[in-house]
Amino acid sequence: MAERGLGVLLVILDGLGDSGSAELGGKTPLESVEQRNLGRFKEAGAVGLIDPISPGIPPGSDTSHLSLFGYDISAEYPGRGPFEAAGNGIELREGEIAFRANFATVELRGGRADVVDRRAGRIPTEATARLAKVLNEECGQVGDARFRLYPALEHRAVLVISGTGLSHQVTDNDPHATGMPLLECLPLEEASDKEGAGRLCRLVNSWERECIKVLERAEENADRKRRGLLPGNAVLLRSPGVMRAMQPFSERWGFKAACVAGGKLYKGIAKMLGMDVVEVPGATGMPDTDIGGKVRASLKLLGDHDFVYLHLKGTDVCSHKGDARGKAEFLRRFDDSLDEVDSDFLSSNVLAVTGDHSTPCGRAMHSGEPVPLLVAGKHVRSDNVRTFSELSATGGNIGRIRGRDLMPLLLDAAKRTVELGTRPTPRRLNFIPRDLVPLDLGP
Ligand code: ZN
Ligand code: ZN
Repeated sequence: MAERGLGVLLVILDGLGDSGSAELGGKTPLESVEQRNLGRFKEAGAVGLIDPISPGIPPGSDTSHLSLFGYDISAEYPGRGPFEAAGNGIELREGEIAFRANFATVELRGGRADVVDRRAGRIPTEATARLAKVLNEECGQVGDARFRLYPALEHRAVLVISGTGLSHQVTDNDPHATGMPLLECLPLEEASDKEGAGRLCRLVNSWERECIKVLERAEENADRKRRGLLPGNAVLLRSPGVMRAMQPFSERWGFKAACVAGGKLYKGIAKMLGMDVVEVPGATGMPDTDIGGKVRASLKLLGDHDFVYLHLKGTDVCSHKGDARGKAEFLRRFDDSLDEVDSDFLSSNVLAVTGDHSTPCGRAMHSGEPVPLLVAGKHVRSDNVRTFSELSATGGNIGRIRGRDLMPLLLDAAKRTVELGTRPTPRRLNFIPRDLVPLDLGP
């Protein structure tokens, strides 16, 4: 009987890739960490670089995750809105359109709203909930369409629009930068339903105008201003989409998969790909998350799953604040948490550690640079590189690959791949399935 194949623990440190920074003596946060445990796993594996999409393209977390999980984002990406909705437990009905939303601070002048802070000073979750409630009460209906804002963590929210004859093929009104005006929502040039897209734009634009008026006089914002805090006085919208059935991860790669994450988007992605999403106490999706708890939960899950995706957001949160020291400290805690993973782990599993994109602290936003990848396992051809970092990875055995190459590489490292050209199943598969059909020899 052939060996069943190894399990895989894939750790995605959000926004891991970085550049050297002066406050870390010219090192990247990853380079500055002692790597007691990462070094141990490096010895049992190889490193390389991943371009999540392709060189020079800065992905969002959602597009890069899909690419790393082996989905073709040019054909299969439904927009970020539906992932955010799924992660927040919102069931989108057919025809409903979901946007990712941010409460933001704008300055009103000359009939424009200039963005001062895209996150309204990282307004707390409770304040977001109160503002969303006011908007749902006062701006919940535009024409014959219903607008409902669901508050999420901190400044984040999900906007769900229900109406008829609408198309989601419209632009963001979020300019994605401060000092820029809040944008008019416009139909995409390539929209297949121009009329529906035009209709949605008119609704979204009048909703936003109304929201800005209501938020300007909201008690919550008056209180924030009194306390010297930035008001949440506009709603930035981006990446609209409609629910679309995605091929389950298990059907695509043959792994029974589970997800350990704190951030709602990541749980949403996992849920839409049919992974089991496990709640771990202390998993916050922030730098203060219980990393050890998440690692322990992941190890436990490998008892009855053969693929665990562990997501850690702290690296990206620090990066967006330009906090290289904080990012290094988070990575040090991550390395410490790998004390939980004994060396015997690799006898039946593969450990992979990477990021979903680079978020250099010096830029405080996503960049198109590649991210380092470490794969350790008994079937991995190891290399001579000693440490795991953006620079050392250039000399590793894995070389430079694209996001879509990761899953085939992990499948191979787990010894589960089907040799190209052989065909044991009617459906073309990348993996050896559990349910091969034996020839019935009769009684
Ligand atoms: Zn990310
Ligand atoms: Zn980010």
